[in-house]
Amino acid sequence: MSEHGTQTGYGTRYAQSMIPVFGTPQRVLVRGKGVHVWDERGTRYLDLLGGIAVNTLGHGHPSITSALSKQAENLAHVSNFFATPPQIELAETLLRLAQAPEGSGVFFANSGTEANEAAFKIARRHGGPRRPRILALADSFHGRTMGALALTSKVAYRAPFEPLPGGVEFLPANDEDALAAALAPGDVAAVFAEPIQGEAGVRPLQPAYLQALRRLTREHGTLLILDEVQSGIARTGHWFAHQATQGVTPDVMTLAKGLGGGFPIGALIAFGPETRGLLTAGQHGTTFGGNPLAAAVALAVLGTIAEDALLEHVRTVGDAFAQAVTALGDDRITEVRGAGLLRGIGLSEPIAAQLAAVALEAGFIVNAPNPTTLRIAPPLIITAEELASFTAALPGLLDTTTASVTEGA
Ligand SMILES: *Cc1c(COP(=O)(O)O)cnc(C)c1O
Repeated sequence: MSEHGTQTGYGTRYAQSMIPVFGTPQRVLVRGKGVHVWDERGTRYLDLLGGIAVNTLGHGHPSITSALSKQAENLAHVSNFFATPPQIELAETLLRLAQAPEGSGVFFANSGTEANEAAFKIARRHGGPRRPRILALADSFHGRTMGALALTSKVAYRAPFEPLPGGVEFLPANDEDALAAALAPGDVAAVFAEPIQGEAGVRPLQPAYLQALRRLTREHGTLLILDEVQSGIARTGHWFAHQATQGVTPDVMTLAKGLGGGFPIGALIAFGPETRGLLTAGQHGTTFGGNPLAAAVALAVLGTIAEDALLEHVRTVGDAFAQAVTALGDDRITEVRGAGLLRGIGLSEPIAAQLAAVALEAGFIVNAPNPTTLRIAPPLIITAEELASFTAALPGLLDTTTASVTEGA
């Protein structure tokens, strides 16, 4: 935290009390409202990361606080021996938004990695002994628990924890020939893919590749499992990113991040009765998953997105932002990737981490998923003007970054 957190003592207390898996936090944040957060010294930041695509409605949104407090007064938790109205209503809403066919079903979890663990189990149940292989894509990120980690390609994340659950192979993304060859033997249970690879630096799958994924998996009796943990819940201006591509309905979709707008919740949707039937009574479970607090908040999030026409808003301001960054014509910026309000700004030099630090000093929260990408995933309620304030600042932030990198070299 450098000098941050020293006055209040939080810096030292964090270092002395937390397991340091996240490294040193950059600030101690104490308050949020709308698209802004404040640190313990009273400095305000424009939150262009939204807790990594989580704070769908920003901070302190009245629909979330009201849903949460009403539900907390009424019924905060029951075991999964019992059903609750918010949970049932949320399942029905998700099935409707996903345009899932009759006989589809939802399983609720508490995070993205847990939603993917459930998907892994479905893949194994579908595969059985005759389909032991599972495919995932290079540069994938599916989470940190052991099953989801087995599906995650990054060696630094995997190596310390091997052996991981077996049978997973990685394919280059957007390579249809490699996909066809890998599926040909007919022994693949499932393919896992993110429609937009967020942690890889906001790298979208090409629409033609996504369609090939659907067509080839269907031909070979393999499940298509789409991880929309980051790209789902209106993030791209569609309820789910895959809905932008004609003819692509997955067999399984996993969700989390934006669904609770900050309240932890994950979900898995099994499309159609056959896939839904792969998990039967007693084969999976969770204490908290689908708990009424989480379900009530998620319903408020989805309801507000619909009522406030945020899908259209996200498309409009997201496209305008991408065009404005491109129009800067700055040769240090190579491209703007992604869709809606999930964007990766490609950099010609590996300075993304330094640039994110410079941006923070200037009052903008962004992050660097890799050395040549700056990611922005702000609350969906952000205005065009707020985004434009960052675009206008970007050349100056790049100047400061380049100067400090050259000085340090
Ligand atoms: C964040 C993320 C996950 C993991 O979610 P957690 O809630 O951190 O467990 C899985 N898949 C994708 C695509 C993600 O972006």
